[in-house]
Amino acid sequence: MASRKNRSGKANRRSPKPPPTARERLRARFRSAAAWVDGHRWHSIVAGSLLLFFGSLIGGYWVAEWFDSFDRDRLARETIEEMKRGASTGPEPKYARIEDIPGLPKYTEVEPGKPRPTLEEKPRPAAKSTQMAAAAASSDQAWRRNAVPFRDLKSKPLVAIVIDDVGLDRPRSKRAWELPGPLTISFLPYAKDLRDQARAARGRGHELMLHLPMEPTGRNDPGPGALLVSMSDAEIRQRTAAALDSFEGFAGVNNHMGSRFTSFRPGMETVLRQLKPRGLMFLDSRTTKESVGDQTAHELGVPGIVRHVFLDDDESVEAVRRKLAEAEAVARRQGFVVAIGHPHEATLQALSEWLPTVQGKGLALAPATAVLRKRNGWD
Ligand SMILES: [Zn+2]
Repeated sequence: MASRKNRSGKANRRSPKPPPTARERLRARFRSAAAWVDGHRWHSIVAGSLLLFFGSLIGGYWVAEWFDSFDRDRLARETIEEMKRGASTGPEPKYARIEDIPGLPKYTEVEPGKPRPTLEEKPRPAAKSTQMAAAAASSDQAWRRNAVPFRDLKSKPLVAIVIDDVGLDRPRSKRAWELPGPLTISFLPYAKDLRDQARAARGRGHELMLHLPMEPTGRNDPGPGALLVSMSDAEIRQRTAAALDSFEGFAGVNNHMGSRFTSFRPGMETVLRQLKPRGLMFLDSRTTKESVGDQTAHELGVPGIVRHVFLDDDESVEAVRRKLAEAEAVARRQGFVVAIGHPHEATLQALSEWLPTVQGKGLALAPATAVLRKRNGWD
């Protein structure tokens, strides 16, 4: 009877056993777990260690990820703020294509109010005939093959006139290579009809150079394809190679602008390491006294010379005449001089008067490679 009552559930109604509370259930579970641990001591140690190990692994990863995302957010915020600040400081420097600029391109290398002084060289000790120097001087080098022949290095002081920035202003570039030579004509790699222009200049008996655009410190535009200090090594290599392939027959390279880039040693090393296997020389235009071009070329065994006089920082005929006289004096003291000018009206006029007088003054007009040979004592 009692069992029937119990089965129907009616007998327990008077003295009900309260259902276990959540707390009691937890306590019961804990007690049974503790009992299991008591019975399986080794199992529980292994299980606990595993739990600790994987727990810290996952937890650590999660914490690192959290820190990282925090850092990324901060960086993004800062970059955006920097961009906003930069935008408000004035017009961006333009790195446009020269062809897109209306009128004549502005390709002066002068920074306002800073005419660059004439630099003379300290007398160099007689070059030791190291293996490296012998290789740089050997006849299979491109600078030798592409040189304008020049014999007498000894009897007269040598004057090398280099005309930079050639190829953009077509009429004045043509007037430059129609001057009596041998001059050294340095072509920008982004000039139009470059190969034809270069052939015309070479046909007039001038030596050719590649005028490689490099980053200035000012806001002037070095033109398309210029080498910038912010570039990766691979990009500098790629741009240099593209410029070196832009035409043929040049003896070497000199820098267009580049007061920032030529003082950046890693970049200059990358450039010069590409000139070496091609057998090209490097003329350091020395647009800044901080340039490491000549020193680095020397260290890497790239045949090199330096600019001594800038002819036309001041673009008046009178000023160019004075600079030509300065170049003569340096040549007499040093035995050679490298003077750089541009196809400006004043420069073309002053040169057309001065060039026919050179021989009568006991000087020899010479291509850049003749100065290279004389500077290094190579015949
Ligand atoms: Zn230039």
